[in-house]
Amino acid sequence: MRAWAVDQPGPVGSHPLTRVERPIPEPGPGQVRVHVGVCGVCRTDLHLAEGDLTPKRHLVTPGHEVVGVVDSTGRGCVRFAEGDRVGVPWLARTCGVCRFCVAGRENLCTDPLFTGWDLDGGYAEYVVVDEGFAYPVPPSFSDEEAAPLLCAGIIGYRALRRSRLPAGGRLGIYGFGGSAHITAQIALAEGAEVHVLTRSTEARALALELGAASAGGEAEPPPVALDAAILFAPVGTLVPPALEALDRGGTLAIAGIHLTDIPTLDYQRHLFEERQLCSVTANTRNDGNEFLEIAARVKLRVSTVPYPLDEANRALDDLANDRIRGAAVLVNPTGPTSRGTTVRGTTAS
Ligand SMILES: [Zn+2]
Ligand SMILES: [Zn+2]
Repeated sequence: MRAWAVDQPGPVGSHPLTRVERPIPEPGPGQVRVHVGVCGVCRTDLHLAEGDLTPKRHLVTPGHEVVGVVDSTGRGCVRFAEGDRVGVPWLARTCGVCRFCVAGRENLCTDPLFTGWDLDGGYAEYVVVDEGFAYPVPPSFSDEEAAPLLCAGIIGYRALRRSRLPAGGRLGIYGFGGSAHITAQIALAEGAEVHVLTRSTEARALALELGAASAGGEAEPPPVALDAAILFAPVGTLVPPALEALDRGGTLAIAGIHLTDIPTLDYQRHLFEERQLCSVTANTRNDGNEFLEIAARVKLRVSTVPYPLDEANRALDDLANDRIRGAAVLVNPTGPTSRGTTVRGTTAS
């Protein structure tokens, strides 16, 4: 099969992903093999390709927002059968026995594995996954719409919960890409007043279309004091203005896995009056199930930009340079279209 791999991480302009030919993987016990229809392009893939996030394994295949169809099951599988449409997310395996796992906080597992970082991911024609970590995909979403839900959506949802936004509260969203545009819609559906702060004028327009109360420049003060904020942009210099934009008692949640350095904070200006700063680390499967249920219920509008699987480097380059409105997705031209799975876009035929 065809796949992409990270050989030598480097600037996205140097096209750091390398094409590889690999045997189609065989599912082990408790695993299913997924014929990839679509794989979302997450900022984490960009961090991995550029070396901000060190690959756990040489020549790992990125991609952890996979939607496809099960075409083979390993011994002992009970959850999914051949022909089922499933989603393969970032969280690939947890140990199940550490003190975090047993306390229902498996996102903090001390020995986790991640798709497209430890294990080969979905920038490929096939991927294998432990069936206990795959999700059924809500039928109301096409493959292309569903892919970004699997990381951008789930992590954004966890960030929203970590931001402790009160009912009807004012939420600031810093950066407005794949994850943020989904999270904003969940917050709006739950009655929040959403203020978006981003450098991209296109993204500001999308934010207003989706119902944001305001959309301004990334470091500008929002028009109102915020009860909560989420930082999606991987930009540490935005932490002080985002903290300053919080009302007393507010929380800033940092959604990304990587952030550039945070400048020195001034205790009085940025933290006093019980402002809080927290990170978001992966997600539990419970977060994923909750989010996918809500996503289907509120009829999320997912903006995607399709690229053929062959153009993964171009998709990463566009992501790095703010040229994507919503979420980029890679479409496998030899994906499981014959089984009635909806793959849209000119590249899928
Ligand atoms: Zn664990
Ligand atoms: Zn991701």
